[in-house]
Amino acid sequence: MTQAEPLAPDAAFVAFADVGKSYDGGRAAVCGLNLSVRKGEFLTLLGPSGSGKTTTLMMLAGFEAPTEGDIRMEGRSLRGRPPHKRNMGVVFQNYALFPHMNVAQNVQFPLQVRGLRGDAAQAKVEAALELVDLGGLGGRRPDQLSGGQRQRVALARALVFEPDLVLMDEPLGALDRQLRERLQVEIKRIQRRLGVTVIYVTHDQAEALTLSDRIVVFAGGVVQQVGTPEAIYERPENAFVAGFVGENNGLDGIVTARDGATCEVRIAGDLLVRATAVGDIGPGDAVVTTIRPEHVETGTEIGTLCNRFAACVDDVAYHGDHSRLRAILPGGAALTIRTQNGSAPGGSDRLTIGWCADRCLAFPAGRVNGGGA
Ligand code: ADP
Ligand code: MG
Repeated sequence: MTQAEPLAPDAAFVAFADVGKSYDGGRAAVCGLNLSVRKGEFLTLLGPSGSGKTTTLMMLAGFEAPTEGDIRMEGRSLRGRPPHKRNMGVVFQNYALFPHMNVAQNVQFPLQVRGLRGDAAQAKVEAALELVDLGGLGGRRPDQLSGGQRQRVALARALVFEPDLVLMDEPLGALDRQLRERLQVEIKRIQRRLGVTVIYVTHDQAEALTLSDRIVVFAGGVVQQVGTPEAIYERPENAFVAGFVGENNGLDGIVTARDGATCEVRIAGDLLVRATAVGDIGPGDAVVTTIRPEHVETGTEIGTLCNRFAACVDDVAYHGDHSRLRAILPGGAALTIRTQNGSAPGGSDRLTIGWCADRCLAFPAGRVNGGGA
């Protein structure tokens, strides 16, 4: 496992130590998980469907038991501690509102379970509803609310008992894009205001980049990288992370030379690409070189770039603030290029494109930590 900064063991609020989980003795859903969560941070588990994110959250919440290793909270093992004694708020996809209770009763439920009733409970419910901007809607039933409002109620229910930790599993997954973006801002605002620790699950890399203090990228039940959004985006440690987070063009090739941090890669059409080597690669190794669409240049500054190629544009898509071009290199490799609108080269279907070696990373081909995905 890698981290942006090493964390002293005593600084861990929650710690996964060599945690593994296999259901019914089958293939491991989560394998060799070591992860430290800091108090007050917004940590996101990001990965494709089936990569072990929900399983990780379920083990932390106490709905599933690890088959290997241990999870500790403030230094104490959670083994054997039932979910209702873990003091964690949960917003899970499959943990819907109670349809027969109104909004206030739903939010009050966790307080009731903890034996808190009367005016004190009432005041907490009202404060939680205010926090999620639902003041005055306590009397409504869930079926009288929009999807976004229902998720706000779920959030209020997870926060009302002032938990140490809030776990959220794709809470915005069912909402349309605009509503999702609005609620992302809300969730972040609430988390900052309360200073509560959040562990958030999503398969949406844009959501992860927006919300998180740190991101944990999963594939095949194995952590691929842990880091800040900026580190994950700018300095992916393997080809999986480079391809999954943000958009990336991948050019397959063979290393022909290596000189310190840079290397030269022969790609289709015998084109030579200069790239920054990630990891232990040398001449003869199969690699994938990645370059993001926004880092491919088409303008006048192109003359100074070490990678310059004639390309043929075979598709242009207009996206309002930018356009996306599909460019084909002489050897047949296709690249997506992003250009600011207004700066797009007009007319011609032939174009010179270029990019610098710093922006172009070469990774060992096909390597995903743990061999999964
Ligand atoms: P994610 O949340 O990243 O989509 P999950 O943690 O749900 O991934 O699943 C990880 C793996 O574990 C998948 O292969 C999935 O099919 C399997 N899995 C999840 N839950 C169960 C279960 N209750 N019984 C058996 N297998 C499961
Ligand atoms: Mg899931």
